[in-house]
Amino acid sequence: MSASVIPTPQDDVTVEVAGVRIGARHPVRIIAGPCSVEGPEQFLETAIAVQRAGAVLLRGGAFKPRTSPYSFQGLGLEGLRIMRQVADRLGMGVITEAMSAEDVPLVATWADMIQIGARNMQNAALLRAAAAAGMPILLKRGITATVDEVLAAADAIRGWGNDRVVLCERGSRTFEPSTRNSLDIAAIPDMQLRGGLPVIVDPSHGTGRSDLVTPVALAGVAAGADGVMLEVHPNPATALSDGAQSLEAGRFGEFMRALDRVAAAIGRAA
Ligand code: PEP
Ligand code: MN
Repeated sequence: MSASVIPTPQDDVTVEVAGVRIGARHPVRIIAGPCSVEGPEQFLETAIAVQRAGAVLLRGGAFKPRTSPYSFQGLGLEGLRIMRQVADRLGMGVITEAMSAEDVPLVATWADMIQIGARNMQNAALLRAAAAAGMPILLKRGITATVDEVLAAADAIRGWGNDRVVLCERGSRTFEPSTRNSLDIAAIPDMQLRGGLPVIVDPSHGTGRSDLVTPVALAGVAAGADGVMLEVHPNPATALSDGAQSLEAGRFGEFMRALDRVAAAIGRAA
């Protein structure tokens, strides 16, 4: 008998983040929060809304890799403290980015998973420092990186002794101007199969448009993504970063209901 037309990753590799197991045969994990932490009220309000609707991990940016030096650069340590406080209050784990090797020990003190951003996927010093921190790492595919290149970066982290790597498809820069990036659906099962690692999808940076976030998230889940990480804000119009691609916190329940239907259809309901 021939194998299923739906490929399944051979290894049952999972990565645990603050008690949440991400990976093969586990439910699709939803990671949500604002692009940037802007203050305690904004982060708490967002966190309560996403937790109530079913998100299992929080995200937020304290050190922000902005394209323009004139844009909001993040609250730094204060942002880390706010995230930790809110996450503890709600009993959740939190993921945030470290932008340089020097920042890793600080970020590791306050967060449950270290994010390596798309602009830093090939920053060997950062990858090495993150590996050494011994914490789970979310490795985002570089803006112009091939699948082979992101898998090589993951191999580097594993080579430095840290196997707890989750990959993230967040879209690549292409010739298409109507979206911020072009999200590569095929890369999701490809990275799972060839990388032997859990893969999540980021429809926020993958599209740059809040009206496209839900359909693209559903496509990612249908393609087998182990989780979705997306940006949510109480009032996207006033967001200090990435408002155009942020879902309004009040509408997050709607997103979750759509996602649950697709997850159930492929036997991966939460
Ligand atoms: C982010 O997740 O906030 C972010 C900056 O993502 P990326 O590195 O994919 O642009
Ligand atoms: Mn963002």
